[in-house]
Amino acid sequence: MAAKTRQPAVVDLFTQEPTPVSGCDVCFALFGQWKAAVKPGSPTYNPSKASDYVVEIGRHPHTGKKGAQ
Ligand SMILES: [Zn+2]
Repeated sequence: MAAKTRQPAVVDLFTQEPTPVSGCDVCFALFGQWKAAVKPGSPTYNPSKASDYVVEIGRHPHTGKKGAQ
């Protein structure tokens, strides 16, 4: 049952720009943190955190948006 090991796309994940939902303060805040985390030379530069932010923005639930898939 040895599944083929897939290479983690960590770099892809953090370089792909997340799409914050307009009007959502949480997404906006996360997006700001993501931008700081992907900026080389910045004191807050942190690629692994950046990938976390991308995931968080992608998973942030938004109520009142019907039929969103
Ligand atoms: Zn949001």
